[in-house]
Amino acid sequence: MRGKARVVIVGAGFGGLNAARALAKAQVQITIIDRKNFHTFQPLLYQVATAGLSPGEIAAPIRSIFRGHDNVEVLMSEVTGFDLDRRIVHTSETEITYDYLIVAAGATHSYFGHDDWEASAPGLKTIEDALEIRRRVLLAFELAERQSAAGETTSALNFVVVGGGPTGVELAGTLAEISRYALAHDFRSIDPARTHILLLEGGPRVLPTYAEDLSRSAEEQLNRLGVEVRTSTLVTLVEPGAVHVGDTRIPATVVLWAAGVAASPLGTKLGAPVDRAGRVLVQADLSLPGHPEVFVIGDLASAKDEEGKMPPGVAPAAIQEGKFVAKVIREELEAGPKSNSKRPPFHYWDKGSLATIGRAAAVAQFGRIHISGFVAWLSWLFIHIFFLIGFRNRLLVFIQWAWSYVTYERGARLITGSTYLPGWSAPETNGAVTAVHNPAEEIHSGAPK
Ligand SMILES: Cc1cc2nc3c(=O)[nH]c(=O)nc-3n(C[C@H](O)[C@H](O)[C@H](O)COP(=O)(O)OP(=O)(O)OC[C@H]3O[C@@H](n4cnc5c(N)ncnc54)[C@H](O)[C@@H]3O)c2cc1C
Repeated sequence: MRGKARVVIVGAGFGGLNAARALAKAQVQITIIDRKNFHTFQPLLYQVATAGLSPGEIAAPIRSIFRGHDNVEVLMSEVTGFDLDRRIVHTSETEITYDYLIVAAGATHSYFGHDDWEASAPGLKTIEDALEIRRRVLLAFELAERQSAAGETTSALNFVVVGGGPTGVELAGTLAEISRYALAHDFRSIDPARTHILLLEGGPRVLPTYAEDLSRSAEEQLNRLGVEVRTSTLVTLVEPGAVHVGDTRIPATVVLWAAGVAASPLGTKLGAPVDRAGRVLVQADLSLPGHPEVFVIGDLASAKDEEGKMPPGVAPAAIQEGKFVAKVIREELEAGPKSNSKRPPFHYWDKGSLATIGRAAAVAQFGRIHISGFVAWLSWLFIHIFFLIGFRNRLLVFIQWAWSYVTYERGARLITGSTYLPGWSAPETNGAVTAVHNPAEEIHSGAPK
């Protein structure tokens, strides 16, 4: 590889992976560094969280994606910082030099300064998050069944989802769906169909980035699935077993957080200005001011076009940005060091937005064309399966989906790890499962059958 330019890519999410794929055939040596050994297809995380799919079906080993490219090296490591003057990436174990650097470390949850809420209200960003949500949701039903079977008074199962963006909407809709269909006949002492699903949104409508008619339609579709939606409702406190909205305490068996996104903290290590969400302010060509050899892309970048518009934090934006910087690097290397050609600005091509809500329920916005319901859901389904990495995964997910559509089955209903659910007292202490919620405060009666 001597003599070849070395491109280091931090993060093998949508941005990093597509940059690497677009560069893999060029005369460069690529090093991809990710803290995980796999790429996660985040749009289907909610399916893992709600037991519809298994983790392996929505993830792909990074190493196997680049099996056929000898010039692509994959390192599983945590990037801890950068020395931009010496062109060095620091990882937890070593230092790696580069000629070009692409930073695509993505985003994480934001609890708006209340990080202590995370223990009571997990968010959904990683496979680990999805498995923790799945554990809590399934455990809640088991604990309630055990409590009821022991003759104890059973509290209502109240699931509260905080945040009415696409993730909150799909989580709430799918929770309603599994409690009413997939689990409906599997318990003997409780009636899962009476689970109360509450979606809290701080703004005046759900899916605020969509057109108003689609927000209205999404809310109606959620209602039809059995979700109670409360808009203009700001959560002021989350504690084990409850969320607070001002003076109102809402008992919650499981709380899920889908309200805030913050850029990866790695962005601040680049020494460039960041916006309020921690996104790195990049130039029109997605490079760092004063460092044309360093690019920041995807959810970590704040890239404004000439009209001051920023691409949304979605997979197509990260993919397009990854391909764009790969092209810039390739053309620059081909033109040679003497070339003084000016780089073009990045332009985001908005192909439309889709949000799923549940079985045969979704909204889609393609410019002026707005679609709701089954057709939107079908488009969502095919587009998401199409973009999954790997033929095996696509086939598996398609079969799983078709099967669960016909049978209402959800095959990944495994509770693994701890049997502790925040907000429930340990059953071992008194021989029976006892909820800490005050039944008098129940917002919906989920009484035993
Ligand atoms: C639940 C959920 C649902 C979504 N649904 C949709 C959808 O339906 N449609 C859509 O278009 N978009 C959706 N998105 C958004 C989309 O997934 C993101 O916009 C996209 O993943 C951003 O790509 P990225 O490359 O910037 O970051 P990511 O894909 O997040 O990748 C970042 C990578 O960086 C790695 N990394 C981070 N920090 C470090 C470090 N310090 N050292 C080493 N590695 C590191 C991570 O392990 C990860 O692999 C969804 C997101 C979530 C969380």
